[in-house]
Amino acid sequence: MSFQAPKGVSEYVTPRSAIFELVRDQLCAPAKSAGYQYMELPVFEDTALFARGVGESTDIVTKEMYTFEDRGGRSITLRPEGTAGVMRAVIEHALDRGHLPVKVFYQGPYFRAERPQKGRYRQFYQVGVEAIGIEDPLIDAEVIWLADQAFKNLGLKNFKLELTSLGDAESRAKHRVELLKFYETLQLDEATAARAHLNPLRLFDDKRPEMVSAMSKAPLLMDFLSEKSKSHFAQVKKYLDALGVKYELNPRLVRGFDYYTGTTFEFIHQGLGAQSAIGGGGRYDKLMSELGGADLSGIGWGIGIDRTILAAESEAVIPADLASPDLYIIPLGEDASAKTEALRIASNLRNLGKVVDISFGDRALKGAMKSADKAKARYVIVLGDKEITSGEVELKTMSTGVTKSIRISDLKNHI
Ligand code: AMP
Repeated sequence: MSFQAPKGVSEYVTPRSAIFELVRDQLCAPAKSAGYQYMELPVFEDTALFARGVGESTDIVTKEMYTFEDRGGRSITLRPEGTAGVMRAVIEHALDRGHLPVKVFYQGPYFRAERPQKGRYRQFYQVGVEAIGIEDPLIDAEVIWLADQAFKNLGLKNFKLELTSLGDAESRAKHRVELLKFYETLQLDEATAARAHLNPLRLFDDKRPEMVSAMSKAPLLMDFLSEKSKSHFAQVKKYLDALGVKYELNPRLVRGFDYYTGTTFEFIHQGLGAQSAIGGGGRYDKLMSELGGADLSGIGWGIGIDRTILAAESEAVIPADLASPDLYIIPLGEDASAKTEALRIASNLRNLGKVVDISFGDRALKGAMKSADKAKARYVIVLGDKEITSGEVELKTMSTGVTKSIRISDLKNHI
């Protein structure tokens, strides 16, 4: 009998797992450098949290959640996204009553029962950030910068940022009236009408050609922004300009969650085909209070690690030798002295941050050199009686084949 991973999950095994680690860490790095603090949260939560938090009109809640009853008869859902869980934790641990803004970042697996295809999985990975409690356009700009900078640090160039404002409650109410009037002029089928009823903006997200064409005449929220929303958004754009973050305005942008208000954005990579969104997010004015917390606004994003990897691969910006050791040590001889010395040298260099691998087993020199080659080691040394007695080794540079005599105690300065 043999087993396979469940359908549609993404997993990373060696050597590609090294790329996963690099991309994940690079996506987190700007947030860390901006004082965002790490959160590690459960992968399952009370189902009602997501129904409430993500929104009843969304595909995620209506079709894609992994929901089950646990042994205590509770309805549990594998988290389909990160923000609702962060809000729950912030409220539960009273962080919303402490120092503001609460700035956090997180990463991990998320679950949606989608139709699997390249870039779309049932278990996928995200890095996310949230900044909660201060409604300053400067935070919107910082949060967007964190994502833009992470993509740039990875070396990505072929991506764009789409930006809009979904306005505040006042803007939404005015727009809603006009939008519903507009919907009366369309012959909506029952399911579509029901979605429009739950969240009128949702139809901007409908990909069916006839709907795209019908919606091209729909009134746009951008034209209904309140003075407050307008000036907030204008200031966000000014800050982004000052930071050198390029964006395109897309007044038809809506995202897969009901909670967004005000500044909303999506990052699109141009080398990915159908699943081109690599990350997205926005501000949410009412989410905290709706989930039982203080009446605070927040802003955040989620970036897909899987798709960022595909983007990085499509632009060939990931170095090929990510997981290769700096030094590969080959101890020779039957007795334990060369092996002991190999481990001693390795541990000294490892403590200095070098990646050092050793040839294990009693492999002959030729086989051991082959392994060093396969591991793409940068340097190799061979340790025999002679080297141990003299305290000097031949350091071989694998790319050129050139060797150089080096004192063992001096190796740290040469690799
Ligand atoms: P969302 O949480 O829907 O805003 O998605 C944020 C990012 O997560 C997207 O831009 C994608 O990069 C990634 N993502 C969302 N759903 C999936 C999925 N099913 N498989 C892989 N990546 C996904």
